[in-house]
Amino acid sequence: MPNDCLFCKIATGTIPSRKAYEDELVLAFYDIAPAAPTHILVIPKEHIPSAAALSEEHAALLGRVFTVIGKLAEELGLNDGFRVVSNVGEAAGQSVPHLHFHLLAGRALSWPPG
Ligand code: 5GP
Ligand code: ZN
Repeated sequence: MPNDCLFCKIATGTIPSRKAYEDELVLAFYDIAPAAPTHILVIPKEHIPSAAALSEEHAALLGRVFTVIGKLAEELGLNDGFRVVSNVGEAAGQSVPHLHFHLLAGRALSWPPG
């Protein structure tokens, strides 16, 4: 784990966050600058730079990530729908180089995204 990675520090608790879910593989926490009424970041605790670095060996981990997303959506009653986004690279808006999935809900979400 790179010791300057913000989300690694959040994953280990070195930097505090408002947690929505946690297990041994995955952490979900509320975004510090919410872009929607519900805005949660779901991350693997393992340092993976982005979705571009994923391979077959991460299949189980990704299964867990999406199971957590489904669980959160159910628990939070996101019945009107929600969006899951992962930005890859600066041009796509990635500002933290540790794989994360934005879970956004609570307002109309336009398409295509900006
Ligand atoms: P990205 O821009 O890489 O797709 O998403 C990074 C997200 O992390 C942004 O939505 C940003 O608001 C959020 N973020 C950045 N720093 C912190 C922090 O220290 N705590 C929390 N909870 N969220 C953060
Ligand atoms: Zn990291």
